[in-house]
Amino acid sequence: MSIVQSLERLKEGLAASDRMPVVFLGHGSPMNAIEDTPYSRSWEALGRALPRPQAILVVSAHWMTRGSTLVDVSAMPKTIHDFYGFPQALFDQQYPAPGAPDIAKEVVSLLASHHAEGDDTWGLDHGAWSVLKWLYPGADVPVFQLSLDMTKDLPHHLEIGRALRALRDRGVLILGSGNVVHNLRAMRFDAPAYDWAEEFDLTFSDRLAAGDLAALTDRAGMGDLLKLAHPTVEHYLPALTVAGAADASDRLTFMNASIDIASVSMRSFIYT
Ligand code: ZN
Repeated sequence: MSIVQSLERLKEGLAASDRMPVVFLGHGSPMNAIEDTPYSRSWEALGRALPRPQAILVVSAHWMTRGSTLVDVSAMPKTIHDFYGFPQALFDQQYPAPGAPDIAKEVVSLLASHHAEGDDTWGLDHGAWSVLKWLYPGADVPVFQLSLDMTKDLPHHLEIGRALRALRDRGVLILGSGNVVHNLRAMRFDAPAYDWAEEFDLTFSDRLAAGDLAALTDRAGMGDLLKLAHPTVEHYLPALTVAGAADASDRLTFMNASIDIASVSMRSFIYT
């Protein structure tokens, strides 16, 4: 199914519900923030199809903490340029959206049993702004990030999603930003996808479509395939949080199901 067809279907689903969708986007290279690519075009089209939220909660692969889940409660989150070796044009990017301190503080309470704390030192990292600038180019929807507690294993991140689910009825768009397969050590330009990258990507999408979330958090069950697809799991965790925020009444739509630089899946998915 083409992206346009997927988005048409998505629009139909969105019109039928007041509940906010939940979105996971594979962000890939930071250059997608400033280049016209199939991915940036798809994010722009998705932004036009999505309803306008009251606020956006972003779970990005690039905010990792240890021992607590931090929630950005700042009034004006700063744009963080958390990469190096890229053109100046990327460092010049700003995404001046306001924060959502009141909702963020509610999220701290909502996640109290998960050791959540308010924070005003982070802001928006490139996992967030590189996609947001296409989704909501006006930077006029309040946005705040939630960190990944890297001391917790996979099921915890699914649980965080479950705890956040109620926000969907409050006009909050939950947006995960990472990659379903992410192994930069193995990346190769102009080369076909590795077999293991395709296998993990397809296994993931099959299990997600079947609602078998337990399999997606079963480290032992995924074995070496998980280690190849994710030498470190930070890009995988936001996908689990997004899956956790969905329920059986949601319709799942995939987007950008392709592998970039041989070892990074750009697969994205939306629950409506
Ligand atoms: Zn990344």
